[in-house]
Amino acid sequence: MYEKIYVVPLDENSRNYSEWLGQTLSRKMGFRLQTGIVSRLPEEAHNPRTNQYYPVPILSKLELLKGSEDEIIMALTEEDLYLPSQNFVFGQSNSVGRTAIVSLLRLRPEYYGLPEDVNLVKERLFSVALHQVGHVLGLKNCENECVMRIAASVNEVDKRPDGFCPNCLLNLTLPTKVRT
Ligand SMILES: [Zn+2]
Ligand SMILES: [Zn+2]
Repeated sequence: MYEKIYVVPLDENSRNYSEWLGQTLSRKMGFRLQTGIVSRLPEEAHNPRTNQYYPVPILSKLELLKGSEDEIIMALTEEDLYLPSQNFVFGQSNSVGRTAIVSLLRLRPEYYGLPEDVNLVKERLFSVALHQVGHVLGLKNCENECVMRIAASVNEVDKRPDGFCPNCLLNLTLPTKVRT
């Protein structure tokens, strides 16, 4: 698989993790890491009542920045994300637009009153980002021991493996086989 991926920080603090995430995802998935897309959180995505952001308009805006269909954009933010059906989400993706977003806020131990731990944040960030990449590449949530397992809490993020189960791997590699 030689997909192109951009990892785009949408605010100042997420910049501290975006380069690391880009390199780590590229190494793991064989993506070609791209640079040059700059974006910010659109004001229309902000819900002032809860001070959260709705990911759908953010992902639409990011899609417009792509140079070609097959590129993947992974955005990072410090802000909290929510869906009408869920109080919060760690991340969200659009498999048609091939865009995804991950929030760092609830991945930080400080959010739960615990001491800072950059390595723990990186492990969690990788898990949530890889889950979203899986969706972008067409995978569904999975009930196996797998990174595509649903995580409703940070403990569940910590517990699931940081890789795809054999089923999901097979589904991931199918499109490549078809293309060649
Ligand atoms: Zn999912
Ligand atoms: Zn799986």
